[in-house]
Amino acid sequence: MSEPTLRLFFALPCPVEQAAAICAWRDERALEGRPVPRANLHLTLAFLGAQPVEHLQALLELGTTVQAPAFQLNLDRLATIGKGFVCLQPSATPLALAYLVAALNERLAALGVVLDSRPFLPHLTLTRQSRSRPHGPAPTFGWRAEHFVLYQSQNTADGVRYLEQGRWPLLAAS
Ligand code: ATP
Ligand code: MG
Repeated sequence: MSEPTLRLFFALPCPVEQAAAICAWRDERALEGRPVPRANLHLTLAFLGAQPVEHLQALLELGTTVQAPAFQLNLDRLATIGKGFVCLQPSATPLALAYLVAALNERLAALGVVLDSRPFLPHLTLTRQSRSRPHGPAPTFGWRAEHFVLYQSQNTADGVRYLEQGRWPLLAAS
């Protein structure tokens, strides 16, 4: 029998107020595709995929070793990536975001977690399976990223939901 696994990813959760504003704008614009539920809005930092349950403890310890600064994240571009994922993206990737992703990748590699080889593409998915490919400027939606989270992605009869497994602070400027 195959060993039990958890589908895991590190992400920046979208705060509730910004998620409400983003969804209101998305729904008013009637963007094509299947809308991502408001509670699921996030920006993936590192996608781990299926991991053995017994690796969870080491991944939670990994989270505590990441010392990275908090930063302002501004999403100001509408883009369509992959097979019809309509997203908000930052027109410039904050240095601190790149640093956080690099720190996670380095520690994950040391644990032997193999990540997707595609380069990091910061995005917050709004809808999926869109046949049109909207892109261009968007109103700026942003928040101060003050923590990051390890989520378990779980498929349910009501769609995918993300269960928080761990949460760690990003460091305030001294
Ligand atoms: P579902 O696939 O069930 O429709 P989902 O895409 O929200 O739902 P997951 O597939 O578990 O859930 O993905 C969780 C997050 O990780 C999403 O942001 C997704 O875009 C991202 N992700 C999934 N697969 C990869 C991958 N191979 N490389 C990078 N990021 C990925
Ligand atoms: Mg998916």
